[in-house]
Amino acid sequence: MSPPSSLSENQKSRFERLVAEVLASNPFYQAKYRPLGLDSERLPRFEELHRLPLTRKAELVEDQASHPPFGTDLTFALDRYSRLHVTSGTSGHPLRWLDDEESWDALVDCWHEAYRAAGVGRPDRVFVAFSFGPFLGFWTAFHAAQRSGALVIPGGTLTTVQRLASMLDIETTALVCTPTYALRLAETAQQRGLDLAASPIRVTLHGGEPGASVPNVRSRIESAFGASCFDHAGATEVGSWGYACDVGANLHVNERHFIAEVIDPETLEPVEPDADGIECGELVLTTLSRIGSPVIRYRTGDFVRLTRRPCSCGCGYVTLLGGVLSRVDDMLIVRGVNVYPSAIENLVRELPEIGEFEMLAAQEREMAELLLRIEVESGRPGVVAERLARRVRQAFSLRPTVETVEPGSLPRHEGKARRFKRRVR
Ligand SMILES: [Zn+2]
Repeated sequence: MSPPSSLSENQKSRFERLVAEVLASNPFYQAKYRPLGLDSERLPRFEELHRLPLTRKAELVEDQASHPPFGTDLTFALDRYSRLHVTSGTSGHPLRWLDDEESWDALVDCWHEAYRAAGVGRPDRVFVAFSFGPFLGFWTAFHAAQRSGALVIPGGTLTTVQRLASMLDIETTALVCTPTYALRLAETAQQRGLDLAASPIRVTLHGGEPGASVPNVRSRIESAFGASCFDHAGATEVGSWGYACDVGANLHVNERHFIAEVIDPETLEPVEPDADGIECGELVLTTLSRIGSPVIRYRTGDFVRLTRRPCSCGCGYVTLLGGVLSRVDDMLIVRGVNVYPSAIENLVRELPEIGEFEMLAAQEREMAELLLRIEVESGRPGVVAERLARRVRQAFSLRPTVETVEPGSLPRHEGKARRFKRRVR
């Protein structure tokens, strides 16, 4: 792994190539930077990155709407692109994203890094329990498993019971799915008397949604599968930017392919590290290896706590403590203190009696209201609900309403789970 100085040199040379190519022929960024006096004659320097304008998803959506079907964030002629993926559209209109061969190779390399860090390769058998829809992550996870030297099995279009049978029959050693779906597999296995912990599965890797860095979600998955659980983060328009090492429930940003910054989501200014050296705010990423369709200073909408202190795994990359803590828009503020939905989820997952759940929140100035709907699978529902209410109250000075609902009545998720919802008052 590279020491920080060579990492920074590598970022600098990649950034210089990126802006040279983009300002020569990418209409989206040419138009964006022209008012700043930047063009192929006057390129932004690496040291000036933080002064460049941010890129918002809404801009990309507008650009595609006014220049259908692919928009103008394209550096090369259309016939050079070989893959098209689409974002989930959970936060607005879906985006179409084109990649050329060089970008695709880098995207696969990013997921490959996640497998390497989790110790997955030859002779592992990797079961990819995704639906293989239009999102980028399914495909990069699959191709990277193949690149790692493992035997890779696509688990799309199967029922949960069929997936379990297939995983056990072929003696899968590594499972890739969303953290929610891992819990669903565990729930179904338990109902059918299957002991996943006794199976050869030794590693689970999770993408598609945050959660695998939430301590009590991790421990539930690890004990159900008798395996080590690894988080991963990515987005179709960015790529596979973050992965977990075996040191803790954190994420590294893969700085070989991305530049990470943290901004204050209100002022949009870079965040200074606090007394512990932690930068707390919205993660902003620049894609260094996706020249054909880049994002430069892209607002991810993810709220993180970033430290530049070296991790003992030796990778030299920055670390996001606790992974992605929340969507910026989902955060609650109680008496001036940020409360992340992931922290509430951690309390819910601490109680083994609770199966599926959902959170509904309303916020007006400093007043936050929280409704938790829980499925109680064992024990007395009223007692479990009261225990959860007490824990949330003690942890966040927030008095939640806890409702118990019939087991099996809340939605089960296979793809991106959406357990947190805003209520309009
Ligand atoms: Zn590490």
